[in-house]
Amino acid sequence: MNTGLYIHVPFCVRKCPYCDFYSVSVSENGLSGSYTEAVIRNINRYTSEYSDIIFDTVYFGGGTPSFMDSSFFSRVLETAGRNLSPEAEITMEVNPGTVNFEKLNSFRSAGINRISVGIQSASDSELYDLGRIHTFREAAEVVNDGFRAGFTNISADLMIGVKGQNSESLVNSVNSIAGLGVQHVSSYMLKIEPGTPYSRSGISELIPDDDESADMYLLAVRTLAERGYVQYEISNFSRPGFESRHNLKYWHCEEYIGIGPSAHSFFGGRRFEVPRNLSLIHI
Ligand code: SF4
Repeated sequence: MNTGLYIHVPFCVRKCPYCDFYSVSVSENGLSGSYTEAVIRNINRYTSEYSDIIFDTVYFGGGTPSFMDSSFFSRVLETAGRNLSPEAEITMEVNPGTVNFEKLNSFRSAGINRISVGIQSASDSELYDLGRIHTFREAAEVVNDGFRAGFTNISADLMIGVKGQNSESLVNSVNSIAGLGVQHVSSYMLKIEPGTPYSRSGISELIPDDDESADMYLLAVRTLAERGYVQYEISNFSRPGFESRHNLKYWHCEEYIGIGPSAHSFFGGRRFEVPRNLSLIHI
């Protein structure tokens, strides 16, 4: 049976102030080595119990998967072994500021065939206010290095409704990202999540309100369409034939297994979630 596999990598160089995804700062722990073993144990548990699983998509999300060494990805994919389809779409999220050409090359050799680069904006002041660890130029270099390393399927993230953003800077971000030649764009609206530093900072007074954000979203949809990106669900756009197969599983209610703290699964007709606690996965 075809199944998606999501692996959560719960480490970040530092926490972005708007982010509610489960991750811990790298400096807070030395767990990345033992985390590899825990992920492998969990995959083996599924494949020994359900030997007919075929993973036709694999998605390494986070957190910051690109913080990990390529040996993490090769060991995980080797573990999936005979349960991994030779045609599998294997995506990894990449945070600019954590990779260079050599590292991207090693990810490609490890079996990753699609990368999703967290560019977010072409405006360095917007990136600064988001607490990102990179400039637009550095993010653009990562995309270029990705193509040089042999990736032929690259996605970029674009954030809408951020502090300081206006119609002009948004159109510039869309055009700058499209100009890099990426095949896919994921475009999400900033949401102020309770409990994040953003929610305590009063920044909601400084970002576009709901109506302005809605107008910006529609502007992004139009500009992406002009650049040849077809909208195939609310937040995702691609050149024809480059829709994310893993993403479409969520929309088509197909099954997937999530591994790692905070990961969600839809498997065996049930939906369930791993607790947001890194220490529990080591038990
Ligand atoms: S790098 Fe990504 S997962 Fe990590 S804190 Fe920033 S937005 Fe969240």
